[in-house]
Amino acid sequence: MTIEDHGHAKVVSHALARDTLTRLRDVETEQVAFRKGLVKLGRICGYEIVDGLLESETVTVETPLTTTEGERVGEMDDVVIVNVLRAATPFVEGLLKAFPRAKQGVISAGRDEEGGMDREGRFDISIEYVKMPEIHEEDTLILADPMLATGSTMCAVLEEILDGADPERVIVLSAVSAPEGLDRLREEFPDIELLTVAVDDHLDDDGYIVPGLGDAGDRAFRTT
Ligand code: URA
Repeated sequence: MTIEDHGHAKVVSHALARDTLTRLRDVETEQVAFRKGLVKLGRICGYEIVDGLLESETVTVETPLTTTEGERVGEMDDVVIVNVLRAATPFVEGLLKAFPRAKQGVISAGRDEEGGMDREGRFDISIEYVKMPEIHEEDTLILADPMLATGSTMCAVLEEILDGADPERVIVLSAVSAPEGLDRLREEFPDIELLTVAVDDHLDDDGYIVPGLGDAGDRAFRTT
């Protein structure tokens, strides 16, 4: 089992996930390797979600030679993956390898960087684009954003998406989380599951995760 409990969150502790995250953290990792690393990490996390969080059932299967028992993962058609633009785009590309039949939603949610972080460690968030499939009560909703920093973006996204929807479970998936963001999500959305590859030390005064990996969107899209 490579999903472990870590306070408010569950942590994907697979050695390949940790290896890939280390490469992403490295300041020398350039754009293409960074983007591919996010895809790979999404794929690993997807497989870990299937293995650690979804139910499997025993089924009978007919081989060319005989009848035997096997296992099938259920719920694979009842998954909705939400891409929180923009850094999640390569991360979601990887996740979809594990959930090829998932329904997909897209939401753009951006921090007001000019307004900065307030004294409570929060940013104003503007949501400009939302395109969601229908969410059913049997669905597992996976909201992907590689960086969970203050939690301001994810709280705004959850408020928007859960307004009028009541899926069976909600998983917020990130690569790197700050303790501040995890605490805030746990407080405001106690029923959701928090899954991350690393829980880092703290946020700096600009709301960046330390040690973190810098600005994931800028590094993946080469916008610096
Ligand atoms: N978004 C990022 O890309 N990096 C951080 O450290 C925080 C938010």
